[in-house]
Amino acid sequence: MARPRSGPVVSAAVLALALALAGCAGKRTTVQAAGPPGGAPGAASAAPASTAPPAPPAPPAPPAPPAHVPRQPAPGTWLRGDLHSHTATHSDDARRQGGDPTRKTIQVAEYVGLDFLAITDHRTNDVITDPDATSGRMVILRGMEWGSGMHAGAIGLTRPIQPDYRTRGAGLAPEVDAVIDEVHAQGGVFVLDHPLDEGNHLWVVDPKAFDAIEVWHSQWSMRSWAPRTQRDLDDKAAGLGLTAVGLAPNPHLVTAVADRRGSSSLQALTFWESYLNSGRRVTAVGGGDRHMLLPQGSPTTHVYARSRDVQGVLDAIREGRTYISRTPVGPFVTFAADGDGDRVYEALIGDEVSPGAPVVFRAEVLGATGGRIDFVKRGQVLHTEAIVGPHHIAEVRDVPAALDWYRVDVYEAIDPAARNRHLALLQAAQATGQRWAALAAMAVMVPGGALHTNLGTVLPTVLLPDDVDRVLNASLKDPGYCRGAITSPIYAGR
Ligand SMILES: [Zn+2]
Ligand SMILES: [Zn+2]
Repeated sequence: MARPRSGPVVSAAVLALALALAGCAGKRTTVQAAGPPGGAPGAASAAPASTAPPAPPAPPAPPAPPAHVPRQPAPGTWLRGDLHSHTATHSDDARRQGGDPTRKTIQVAEYVGLDFLAITDHRTNDVITDPDATSGRMVILRGMEWGSGMHAGAIGLTRPIQPDYRTRGAGLAPEVDAVIDEVHAQGGVFVLDHPLDEGNHLWVVDPKAFDAIEVWHSQWSMRSWAPRTQRDLDDKAAGLGLTAVGLAPNPHLVTAVADRRGSSSLQALTFWESYLNSGRRVTAVGGGDRHMLLPQGSPTTHVYARSRDVQGVLDAIREGRTYISRTPVGPFVTFAADGDGDRVYEALIGDEVSPGAPVVFRAEVLGATGGRIDFVKRGQVLHTEAIVGPHHIAEVRDVPAALDWYRVDVYEAIDPAARNRHLALLQAAQATGQRWAALAAMAVMVPGGALHTNLGTVLPTVLLPDDVDRVLNASLKDPGYCRGAITSPIYAGR
């Protein structure tokens, strides 16, 4: 059955609305400048009486400088895309799994309305010279999923790089750092992919200068319910020869596996927060990791870009101007701060506010009625409130200390009937520890009449009904909700 063609049109309209609102916020001016202090010279009608001849008329007063020049947010446009996608042309496993060649992979991403797509096949530079890696509608970023045990998105490549690490033990971390230096030399970014996803992917090395962490990898609760353990970490460190030479594993990974509140997805969030709490600025991105079957954009990474091109997307990631949403059609989030009391929200996601003075943080959320918004400060919820309409505005005032950071989490409500119908099934499948079981459960969850599959790809591409997608993104920590959006931080300076 063909998908109704209205989908992308509707999504374009929602995006246009979101951009219009972002623009409104940016253009808002608060008239705060007072008039000339004390009035113009010569206007002092209460001057003492005098017998002196009248003074010549005073020249017109020059315009007084405004008492306050409002700072404005940096100019840009929100673009939405996916930074993690495989093709059957260049990835062995995607080929084996019935994935699509480059051209059809790109067509699927165009169909769901993305503005950019990174092609990140496993340990191969081939996409750099692939003539099919182009699009008339999207910005295409050429890259690679680097590494055989610790995966990373090396995105924005123009020349081949070493596709994997070759050393173990003491040489491993310097080798990873050298690869990152080479990616940076090409103008690209380096993303630690699914850092807690499976035992053999744990980022047990702590690179010096990477750009981002894939905080949200495919559907939040789809891949695994089980948190990773210290044992997984120890096995990984031993396997890479770190234990034998007495090297301590990545301390942020140690913090992450100690978090037993939920799933490995929550541990990935904890991993990122541990970096932020240490004072490092690390961008949050999402990755759909499409091999086949489901389209890209689950989740979607939004970047605030100065230009609609490769440079614009990569700069936005470097500058921390990102948020992640569950789908390409939302929820949409604007998160900004006013640090000088003029009601102009000049600091956007990725920007800095001054510590030691009051700051008003403001979030606008589109398309999450019935959900919840959390303002998060240094990993703790500072303020939470219900989202009561399709365009919800929330504000919180706080005085940041040096090196604090703030972000917004949006949760969407899961329909209780859908939750009852689907969640037990998914949990039972997850309990097997087999990925195919989760896929089988998902197939049962999708009613036949709701399958939209005919995108002309090698395997059918399944566009999930929204109630099913919400269950697949369920938050174990917050029953009744799914993950809706996660922003990168606004930072307090030193
Ligand atoms: Zn991977
Ligand atoms: Zn992948």
